[in-house]
Amino acid sequence: MTPQYDAIIVGAGFGGMGAAIELKRLGFDNLLIVDREADLGGTWHVNRYPGLAVDIASVTYSYSFEPNPHWSRMFAPGAELKRYAEHVADKYGLRPLMRFNTTVDGARWDEDAQLWQVQLRGEDPVTARYLLTATGFLSQPKMPDIPGIDTFAGKVVHSTAWDHNYDLTGRKAAVIGTGATAVQLIPQVAKKVAELTVYQRTPIWVTAKPDWAIPRPLRTLFTRLPITQRIARMINTTALEALMVIGVLHYRQAPFTNKGAARFAMAHLRRQVKDPELRRKLTPDYSFGCKRPTFSNDYFPTFNKPHVHLETTSIDRVEPDGVVTTDGRKTAIDTLLLATGFNLWDVNFPAIEIIGRDGRDLGKWWRDNRFQAYEGVTIPKFPNLISLNSPYSYSGLSYFTTIEAQMKHMNRLFTELKRRGGTTFEVTEEANTAFLNQVTERLEDSVFYRGDCSTARSYYFNQHGEAALLRPNSTLTTHRQATRFPLSDYTYA
Ligand code: NAP
Repeated sequence: MTPQYDAIIVGAGFGGMGAAIELKRLGFDNLLIVDREADLGGTWHVNRYPGLAVDIASVTYSYSFEPNPHWSRMFAPGAELKRYAEHVADKYGLRPLMRFNTTVDGARWDEDAQLWQVQLRGEDPVTARYLLTATGFLSQPKMPDIPGIDTFAGKVVHSTAWDHNYDLTGRKAAVIGTGATAVQLIPQVAKKVAELTVYQRTPIWVTAKPDWAIPRPLRTLFTRLPITQRIARMINTTALEALMVIGVLHYRQAPFTNKGAARFAMAHLRRQVKDPELRRKLTPDYSFGCKRPTFSNDYFPTFNKPHVHLETTSIDRVEPDGVVTTDGRKTAIDTLLLATGFNLWDVNFPAIEIIGRDGRDLGKWWRDNRFQAYEGVTIPKFPNLISLNSPYSYSGLSYFTTIEAQMKHMNRLFTELKRRGGTTFEVTEEANTAFLNQVTERLEDSVFYRGDCSTARSYYFNQHGEAALLRPNSTLTTHRQATRFPLSDYTYA
């Protein structure tokens, strides 16, 4: 049976677009890219809250093969990322392959026909030889399970569904959450509202953000002499890499790097907040790196403003006109802003139901066993599946280092498959187990197990208590392994 498509890619964000670019380079033209959203860009389409900007410098947070010399700032605002995604889609001919407002309910491997049956909501199944899931890590918004929240009579907005028509001016607002999103959102919200109460459960590590507008002459230089931007990228990527590899992954060997980063963040807090009690509340009590630290120059100073209040007593319930903390105090509000992040481990690995060989259900198998994927991309019993947002797949600090390593992995795998004249690949159980053992062992040195992460409530940890998101090696190693993994780690047919 001939499938309708060479490949179906689920997700039209940077991961899905990178996969499509690689497949086109490999000669596959009959591709379908589906996305549940109304447009491309993934995270950068969904997130539109005030203050949104990338917090990895833009020279690094972009495809290395498609540099953008036009970034307006060191850390580009979200709208520029969205425009960059549109530019990539146009330049690489991806738009005609995309279908929006299309939700994938599930996919099932058809052993007889050696293809994937993909169920699109409300439609007949479509078939493809290969299935690539690029559904993101942070794409299932988490609604807090707080008693009474459904009874709130004012406006409720989650950061992933920002309502730009809703005027915040003069409102009495509350923000729940103090993660990377809240750090960007709170200073902007505070500029408009009359009263702002921030409900913090766990403080976040924040360091200074070396952010400035990129002067026009420098942008011109980047355009005329692209090597200068490549050098800037290399320098920035190297610094991020050092932080990740030495500060996070090799905590056991070099705890002083991690502690140095924490001291740097503490100095930032001391410079910006003079009130010792407020400072105490904003100080994390877990090791730097247990959960993703962030960068901001205006987050801490916002709490110095008289109309901004940091509330650290736990929320007991929400009532129609306010939030009540466990000590019985009620704060009257008319606007509830949820910066409560994403659910990764219950609903996002995988984001859709995927049934492989012998009826193996990927989500169930990961939960009943351990979360695992060979080089963060392929799983035994799931032939012809490339799962881009898998456990242990995230390498480096910029998502683009992960995407491009995965593109290299795809290139090596599909090139070998074609060379053999085959159409079906599957990673071996042995290769997968060896990879899982290797990452498990290497993670032993990381801040996740050697530092103190007990109070961090970090989404890096899954329900089994394992830090199963990050791949514990340098991006150089990840890229090397992606181009050199033993071809015998797969079977081909
Ligand atoms: P997050 O880091 O998971 O933070 C969610 C916040 O909501 C946490 O402070 C959490 O507290 C709090 N929260 C959740 N449920 C709660 C409840 N029931 N009661 C009280 N508090 C609750 O999510 P995020 O801030 O959206 O950031 C997620 C990730 O997105 C970041 O780590 C980063 O990787 C990425 N991001 C990147 C950028 C960028 O590059 N520009 C910007 C934003 C986000 P606990 O910590 O106590 O659970």
